[in-house]
Amino acid sequence: MADTRPVLLVLGTGFASFSLVKAIDTERFQLVVVAPRNHFLFSPLLPSTTVGTIQFQSIIEPIRTARKGLRYHQAFCVRLDTENKVAHCEGKFKRTPFEVKYDYVFIGVGAVSNTFGIPGVEQYCHFLKEIQDARNIRHEVIQCFERASKPNRPIEDFDWLLRFVIVGGGPTGVEFAAELHDFIEQDLSKWFPDLIPYVRITLLEAGESILTAFDATLGDYTRRHFSRKKIQVRTKSLVREVTHDAVVLSNGEEIGYGLVVWSTGNGPTELVDNLDLPKDRTKRLITDEYCCVKTTDNIFSVGDCAVMEHNPLAPTAQVAQQGGTYVAKQLNDLVAKKERKPFNYKHKGMLAYVGGNKALADMGSRKSKGFHTWILWRSAYLTKLISFQNKLMVMFDWLRAFIFGRDISQY
Ligand SMILES: Cc1cc2nc3c(=O)[nH]c(=O)nc-3n(C[C@H](O)[C@H](O)[C@H](O)COP(=O)(O)OP(=O)(O)OC[C@H]3O[C@@H](n4cnc5c(N)ncnc54)[C@H](O)[C@@H]3O)c2cc1C
Repeated sequence: MADTRPVLLVLGTGFASFSLVKAIDTERFQLVVVAPRNHFLFSPLLPSTTVGTIQFQSIIEPIRTARKGLRYHQAFCVRLDTENKVAHCEGKFKRTPFEVKYDYVFIGVGAVSNTFGIPGVEQYCHFLKEIQDARNIRHEVIQCFERASKPNRPIEDFDWLLRFVIVGGGPTGVEFAAELHDFIEQDLSKWFPDLIPYVRITLLEAGESILTAFDATLGDYTRRHFSRKKIQVRTKSLVREVTHDAVVLSNGEEIGYGLVVWSTGNGPTELVDNLDLPKDRTKRLITDEYCCVKTTDNIFSVGDCAVMEHNPLAPTAQVAQQGGTYVAKQLNDLVAKKERKPFNYKHKGMLAYVGGNKALADMGSRKSKGFHTWILWRSAYLTKLISFQNKLMVMFDWLRAFIFGRDISQY
């Protein structure tokens, strides 16, 4: 017998899409997921994987096992024919084209790192968005130390080889600087003691302060904490260009580097950039209070690629996660012909790790920092990890790093 259930096409396997997939009623919908990444990634713990505090596989979950009956295609959606309700897709590897017909589509394709068109960024910098990025960063950090320890290496080379530059003073840049510092101080220092005095970590921020999404007192605390750890924070430092051997600032100053990590916010994915649907000036899809893209009635979008017209929310995991669950419930109700309620986001506060077993928490009226907040940070993320298996794996990773230290082999 022909399947008469409407087809719900989900684009993406990130926070928004994964939570929708978990909550949708598969008795009522045929669920088809298209995304180049075949797993969900718990990005808040991604900085910890760049230095091996947490293993890569501990923070990912396959999409295929997320729901029974789900069909998954490892591909990019490249175009939506909204009139005929057809998504044009291309396979991830050979770019073989195919089409998916849908009744409803959920766009949860997130965003890409914004380079602002600055020359050399794509070519020479590392981004920190995917597992592969974290793997590349870890590889390169260890490589810098191995190269620097070669016999007869001139000391002047340490100026660039052991200089780690992070561009962007938001939570991702700060957390990466903190994790890198921990790795160097707690592990690499045991095996490369002669090199440690030459290591420098520099955080460049174009604005006047770091962690602007947090309360100013927490940003100031982080600056003081970083200065004690000898992590150099340079605000009002605008990058003009990145060359093969230096980060060039707008005042002409050149900073040599062994590794540059670029984390300066979000830009649109190619798909969203090309979609002929209403967008704001940062090229996010504009939705109504039901997360339905303006001018449509069967296209929904939440997460980093979308913005609600009268209630713009920050591009965070909790917004994407709550939005995905909301759209799933709303679609379940729509088919069951129940009354719809607008999306009501509940902010649960923000956390960030700043290194040396210290963290920040900004919970609206309650702000805290230091060691006890680090315990809170760890417990909060442990509970937010989706599967029990991942929770267990992350707990073991923390224990392993505490007892044996982080692995310094290059793989
Ligand atoms: C290192 C790091 C740390 C972070 N820490 C925090 C934190 O501590 N707290 C917090 O709240 N937020 C944090 N964030 C932000 C958070 O990860 C994002 O806000 C969240 O992932 C957005 O969810 P999303 O579903 O919109 O997109 P994503 O989770 O980015 O998922 C996008 C999905 O779309 C897929 N996709 C892309 N293009 C296409 C296409 N053309 N067709 C089909 N699929 C496509 C991708 O493969 C991916 O599966 C962090 C982000 C990073 C990078």
